[in-house]
Amino acid sequence: MISPMRIATGGIATECCTFSPLPTRLEDFRIWEGDRLLDSYLIPRSDHEIEWLPTLTAKAIPGGPVTADAYEELKGRIIAHIANLGEIDGFFLDLHGAMNVSGMDDAEGDLAEAIRNAVGPEPIIGASMDLHGNVSPKLLKNIDLMSAYRTAPHIDANQTRRRTVKLIADCIVSGIRPVIAQARIPVALPGERTSTEWGPGMKLWSQLFEEDKADGILECSLFVGYAWADEPRMTACAVVSGTDEAAVAAAANRVARRYWDARNEFDFGVPTYQADEAVRWALNQSVQPVIISDSGDNPTAGGAGDTPIVLEALLKAGADNVLVAGIADEPAAKECAAAGPGATLDLELGGKLDPIHATPLKLEATVVRVYPDEGLGGIHVVLKTKGVTIMLTEKRRPFHHIKDFIRLGIDIEDYKVVSVKVGYLVPELKDAAREACLALTEGAVDQYLERRDYKRIERPMFPFDREFDWSPIAQLIT
Ligand SMILES: [Zn+2]
Repeated sequence: MISPMRIATGGIATECCTFSPLPTRLEDFRIWEGDRLLDSYLIPRSDHEIEWLPTLTAKAIPGGPVTADAYEELKGRIIAHIANLGEIDGFFLDLHGAMNVSGMDDAEGDLAEAIRNAVGPEPIIGASMDLHGNVSPKLLKNIDLMSAYRTAPHIDANQTRRRTVKLIADCIVSGIRPVIAQARIPVALPGERTSTEWGPGMKLWSQLFEEDKADGILECSLFVGYAWADEPRMTACAVVSGTDEAAVAAAANRVARRYWDARNEFDFGVPTYQADEAVRWALNQSVQPVIISDSGDNPTAGGAGDTPIVLEALLKAGADNVLVAGIADEPAAKECAAAGPGATLDLELGGKLDPIHATPLKLEATVVRVYPDEGLGGIHVVLKTKGVTIMLTEKRRPFHHIKDFIRLGIDIEDYKVVSVKVGYLVPELKDAAREACLALTEGAVDQYLERRDYKRIERPMFPFDREFDWSPIAQLIT
């Protein structure tokens, strides 16, 4: 080891729904490369003395599969940077873990293999992932350590990344070459059922901190997996990194067994309804704001973010003083921005990005305010039609944080009902909601997994198959 230790970093992070018709292209990625990456929040703080060597980190809002060209371009740039780094001690691989590339089943496995081939066998490679990632033996074979978030909503994302870097650095300092065990769990559940804020999720993920303390164990991870990917690697699993083969295998089996045993207990943390029922329920509450999660079209899970299903249900119910956040529709946003505040237009709103799950909704609406693309990531328009205020955006985006509303002059407490394209609520939105429900809307990330036509996943798998026996068999990855 050279002092300070030389650790490179890079990765491609996104979540791809194979049921979405919307390709993720190169221009959909935010890219940090070279010095820009070095100066960014993507370099985790560490108590170790580290010389950071940036390659390229790219992140995209979840959507459909990444185009093969975009992936090859990003991967090629990471590998080209590595060629100029000289000798390194470690690599921090910054992933989400549910990327699907057109024509390829295991993008993270392919990326890890390319990085391993480029850096050589010696450097310690540690990967950090979302617990909603799909893990393959090929990915694990090409890394030395794995850490996954232990919270959903992900309030420990930065903490996890710092833990990964600490583990990499500790292994470099002490000359440890870890071993990894994976135990697949044949269970496919959406993140909305497996949140760590209630039910079995809360207990199962907190138990990992105890598992970490066992002799021979460095880090235990429990993956829900990403269920909206019809690919062979899709599954929940336990992944344990450590120094003792028997100990990591035993821990992986214990963690996997507990998740399997809890499979029937996972449930949504709020009442669930079909869209029309959700609207009726919300309008009947005596408090405000009531938040409806439009869960099938959640753009942070891979939904298009443009289906007008809840909007239509609100209009049909004659709702007054309600907010829909938001609908992504580039042509409509540009038309409204050009017309300006006060203009009333006939629009065909939404249903264009995801024509599989929705059609455009015809309505007459008045432009209230227009925000040009100044640091907001595209034009934003506040529209009003009857009693419904709509946040119309040029680009796909979530409205998951209070600041997303405040920046557009909206106080959600002013509204009786707020419909947000999200699954579970992030803590600040949960705190702001006086009541909340989850609308089981159709969309690319439909919560009814059983309504999906899976063709390529491994079977049997719960909940598609319910009558089968299973015992965990940890696989040592060497
Ligand atoms: Zn996630």
